[in-house]
Amino acid sequence: MNTFATAGELLAALDAGEVTSVALTEAALARARAGAELGAWLHLAEEQALTRAADVDRRRAAGEPVGALAGVPIGVKDQIVTRGIPTTAGSKMLAGWVPPYDATVVERLHAADAIVVGKLNQDEFAMGSSNERSAFGPVRNPWDPSRVPGGSSGGSAAAVAAGHVPLALGTDTGGSIRQPASFCGVVGLKPTYGRVSRYGAIAFASSLDQIGPFGRTVADVARLMGVLAGPDDHDSTALRSPVPDYLAGLGGDLAGLRVGVPEEYFVAGIDPEVEATVRAALAQLEAQGATLVPVSLPHTPYAVATYYILATAEASSNLARYDGVRFGHRTAERVSDVADLYAKSRAEGFGDEVKRRIILGTYALSSGYYDAYYLKAQKVRTLLRRDFEAAFAACDVLATPVSPVTAFRLGERVDDPLQMYLADIFTIPSSLAGNTSVSVPCGFDGAGLPVGLQLIGPPLEEGRVLRVAHAYEQATAWHRRHPGEEGA
Ligand code: GLN
Repeated sequence: MNTFATAGELLAALDAGEVTSVALTEAALARARAGAELGAWLHLAEEQALTRAADVDRRRAAGEPVGALAGVPIGVKDQIVTRGIPTTAGSKMLAGWVPPYDATVVERLHAADAIVVGKLNQDEFAMGSSNERSAFGPVRNPWDPSRVPGGSSGGSAAAVAAGHVPLALGTDTGGSIRQPASFCGVVGLKPTYGRVSRYGAIAFASSLDQIGPFGRTVADVARLMGVLAGPDDHDSTALRSPVPDYLAGLGGDLAGLRVGVPEEYFVAGIDPEVEATVRAALAQLEAQGATLVPVSLPHTPYAVATYYILATAEASSNLARYDGVRFGHRTAERVSDVADLYAKSRAEGFGDEVKRRIILGTYALSSGYYDAYYLKAQKVRTLLRRDFEAAFAACDVLATPVSPVTAFRLGERVDDPLQMYLADIFTIPSSLAGNTSVSVPCGFDGAGLPVGLQLIGPPLEEGRVLRVAHAYEQATAWHRRHPGEEGA
């Protein structure tokens, strides 16, 4: 099969008996190994994957019922726990841990007969925007290996863009699915907070974290989303609302669609080539029958500061469990008492960015500062949510850039955390508001690097943003370009 065949094409070939899941799984593993210089994979689960693939082949050949992704290889971000497969969240703190259980999403992948081929690299505990914060080395962008793939789900985006696997799971707390999808020229969906169970996603900032799908086409992302979404008794925040058939919901034109264009997302500081590319995408939506509506999200300038109070506060609390006693790396040094054991274990196990966030978050939560920082940030969060509610009274979806820049060079920003944080400006607001947004490829800059269009919808309107993204994708050819191919 073609390296860049979609999950839909693979399923058709499998059903027609033209290929086996064992062959597809072997090919995915071989490509992952051959592409090792990208650094996308932390672990390949060869034995588990081939055993499952053989079982799916046998059941399919016997005419037994098989699941919605039967036999299709998929990669899983290492933030998500997998029974019997090492899971580190990109941190030395969890090196060598083999979880005794599967995350709910992984159980669902297995129930759908997808083949988990391995675990994907990421920024440590999902903190970062470039994948340079992984304890196990960076990931490189398949379009230009001197550049970052984005983060924190950099391995997921790179593995899908490079054709190792057609599908992957990522997590998004403030942009970690959408921004790497944009940098690598693939599709990535951040579901509404609560649409997908977080059970078994290693917690970073629990009021923001969401698991979501990556693919090279909107249809593939819709197909995978249908498998992931739904209530879960293990996660009380998982929403009970019925899950629509996202794949069947694709199609139709954009006539009458009102597309909101928030003025705060087209401001000074955005790379002119990114702006021109996204504006061309807006014109394309218009040409397909949509009406562009100027809207305002006035609290946008406060979003990054708000996020970096709330996310770090929640992280400081969530990461307290890694103390070398109950969870995580334990120092081999001599220790004088239990406090010393905690301190040495945490000093050795966590990287610099994680430590910075624990310190920031602990400060924001400390007595005397709580009202000024955490409580204030919660109030601003409400204002940001209201911004979106007001905007959605005037339009059906919002269309914006995903990131103010395209993929930057490795090392270029790593010593400037503030610069790195500020670049999350277009993805963070939707996370704080808890709504849904997708990144879909919308062109390339002069250096041949992908640009992503972000479509934001009201809560639980995954079907709507996917439908718009699909209509746009079908009218354009960006998703047919692949790294390393002629003309790419
Ligand atoms: N880049 C943001 C951060 O560093 C978002 C990360 C994420 O979504 N997990 O926190």
